[in-house]
Amino acid sequence: MWGDWFLKDISIIGDGCAALSFASKMGSLPDYSLTIQIPKNAPKKRDHCWGFWRHPVLEEPIELSKNSWGKWSIITDKETIILESTTKPYHVLKRNEWMDYCQKVALENGVSFVPQGSIENNQKNLFDTRPPSVPKNALLQHFLGQTIRVEERCFDSTTVTLMDFRVDQSNGMHFIYLIPFSETEALVESTLFTPEKLDESFYRDTIKRYVEKIYNVSKFEIIEEESGVIPMGKLSQRDPLIPGLGGNGGAIRPGSGYAFIFIQKQIREAIQRVEQNKPLRFRSPHKKIDLWMDKILLLILKHWPSHAPTIFSRMGKRLNGDQFARFLSGDVDWKLRLKVIFSMPKLIFARGFVKWAIKI
Ligand SMILES: Cc1cc2nc3c(=O)[nH]c(=O)nc-3n(C[C@H](O)[C@H](O)[C@H](O)COP(=O)(O)OP(=O)(O)OC[C@H]3O[C@@H](n4cnc5c(N)ncnc54)[C@H](O)[C@@H]3O)c2cc1C
Repeated sequence: MWGDWFLKDISIIGDGCAALSFASKMGSLPDYSLTIQIPKNAPKKRDHCWGFWRHPVLEEPIELSKNSWGKWSIITDKETIILESTTKPYHVLKRNEWMDYCQKVALENGVSFVPQGSIENNQKNLFDTRPPSVPKNALLQHFLGQTIRVEERCFDSTTVTLMDFRVDQSNGMHFIYLIPFSETEALVESTLFTPEKLDESFYRDTIKRYVEKIYNVSKFEIIEEESGVIPMGKLSQRDPLIPGLGGNGGAIRPGSGYAFIFIQKQIREAIQRVEQNKPLRFRSPHKKIDLWMDKILLLILKHWPSHAPTIFSRMGKRLNGDQFARFLSGDVDWKLRLKVIFSMPKLIFARGFVKWAIKI
């Protein structure tokens, strides 16, 4: 096209969440054209659920998400804490639905998709969304979930179980994440924060035993299965010469593994920079102080995982639903940060701090 030759080129390696989320926003960058390079040797893409709390940056995902809940719980052997929010409910969106939507809008905005290697990579606005390098022995969030259907109504369809620690803790921090789509259908996920992935049979057995113990249900139909590994902690850019975006651009929140909202925040900030005539750059969506707090938390979860139920239940008891959602979405001011700090068990955080300070 004649009018296109003056456009500034952007090229992104990868066609995952961050690349397509950005591609869907190209209507906001009329002076730029975007090429998505579909990476070589990428593993097959699999559908899964994204969870996040309502936030202004998530308007489109919220419109597409079919399920939301105003209540969520944290459960330990000793207690059940229920948090509620009418203004910041928890939403779940299927990956494929978001990706199909973004791809459609991107194509309407003239974004091209080419195989990696078919164009030269020497341009100024080149970004990489392939997964970052993960340091050896890093803490991983690894999980396997099954969407199950049971005959008798047993799930509380009003409340998401964010963390239920009433499962085997012998391998490290381990909890069940349960999304009740109805009273008879739920995604039940066995999730661990440890440096080693486990055999798939471990997560499946955990789910079976959990459903039997908590809901007294021994037979269920498995409708879908999802699994994943999210690296936690400080990650290095995949290629030191190509700036990153999404997980490869520091978007994964180290202490929680939540990334979807942070990817959208990162993209919104980058577009706002361009609108202010600044160069296109994708910056970390996290504040330095929050990254440092996560570092101490991860040290504790790695070395003293038996404290995890106390840490998360105390946070649940101290914050109200809105504050909890804000904290996990990275919308934190000093008042809220201090509230979280003062809710934590002092002795173990002092040990975590010493371990961080002397780096052992
Ligand atoms: C199963 C699962 C569930 C998750 N659930 C949540 C959630 O509920 N809430 C939340 O906030 N976050 C969640 N996350 C974390 C985060 O939102 C996602 O990982 C998100 O997809 C990251 O986007 P991205 O664009 O950085 O990476 P991706 O979407 O993974 O895209 C990476 C790109 O690199 C390519 N690629 C991958 N591996 C290779 C390779 N070896 N070589 C070459 N190319 C490669 C892929 O094909 C893709 O093009 C979840 C992650 C997983 C895996």
